Amino acid sequence: MFNSLSERLTTTFKNLRGKGRLSEADVDQTIREIRRALLDADVALPVVRTFTGKVRERALSAEVSEALNPGQQVVKIVNDELVGILGGQTRRLNFAKRPPTVIMLAGLQGAGKTTLAGKLAHWLKSEGHRPMLVAADLQRPNAVNQLQVVGERAGAFVYAPEPGNGVGDTVQVATDSMDVARSKLYDVVIVDTAGRLGIDEVLMQQAADIRAAVEPDEVLFVIDAMIGQDAVVTAEAFLEGVDFTGVVLTKLDGDSRGGAALSVAQVTGRPIMFASTGEGMKDFEQFHPDRMADRILD
Ligand code: GDP
Repeated sequence: MFNSLSERLTTTFKNLRGKGRLSEADVDQTIREIRRALLDADVALPVVRTFTGKVRERALSAEVSEALNPGQQVVKIVNDELVGILGGQTRRLNFAKRPPTVIMLAGLQGAGKTTLAGKLAHWLKSEGHRPMLVAADLQRPNAVNQLQVVGERAGAFVYAPEPGNGVGDTVQVATDSMDVARSKLYDVVIVDTAGRLGIDEVLMQQAADIRAAVEPDEVLFVIDAMIGQDAVVTAEAFLEGVDFTGVVLTKLDGDSRGGAALSVAQVTGRPIMFASTGEGMKDFEQFHPDRMADRILD
């Protein structure tokens, strides 16, 4: 991911780095190239506009004209602003003062929620927690089974409705799971919710109802980085319908152009907290905006 964007920006900066002084025309040429590179990487237009506007303003200021190496200074500004649109500081998980901490996952079907639930549990265990997984996705045939498989791989207990109970009531399952966690001393509850292929009201309402019932400490919106420009529309719909506290980008191992990663945090004002980079339990990392910016500009 980001390979093509990274290459384009590196080429742009190669021309810039050696320059002793930068004219306004030099700056504008650079901004045009950055703009094109970002748009080709599927970054949402409003994000591109804000980004290039800020870089241009700073590149034409004394910060650059008085710098020892103006070209290098512009590269630094681009780096700073990239860190900014990626959310600034690393945002860590918020744990409840009184356990259990409740983490709810929301997103479209296929985004990678169930896989992520397992990865989160696996990671939390390595950090010394006792996580429990909850199958609040009772619509999709096989969803409960899939979570059970994932839970086994992660070595985490899965709370799911008894087989034969039919579709059941997801809100009830989620609410009951809180009592189970308290009585069995699980300190983190990860609630996997149902997704649909597209945004719909029933899905949003169900997620909003679960949210209201379990009052999560974190609601993580899980999004497939491969969906490109659609990422922004989807993220905005979930922000309005359910609201969320953080974003998880999945499938960063794919050859997506990176636009989702660069747009979602900025457009929603919610930080990217984790990244999923494959199908294995360990293909998961905390998201660090500064490291991601370095990766892009490397
Ligand atoms: P859900 O419908 O949101 O619960 O999505 P799933 O967890 O079932 O994931 C959908 C598909 O994407 C599955 O085949 C997963 O193995 C795959 N998947 C999930 N996360 C990643 C990832 O980070 N990288 C890759 N390559 N595949 C992933």
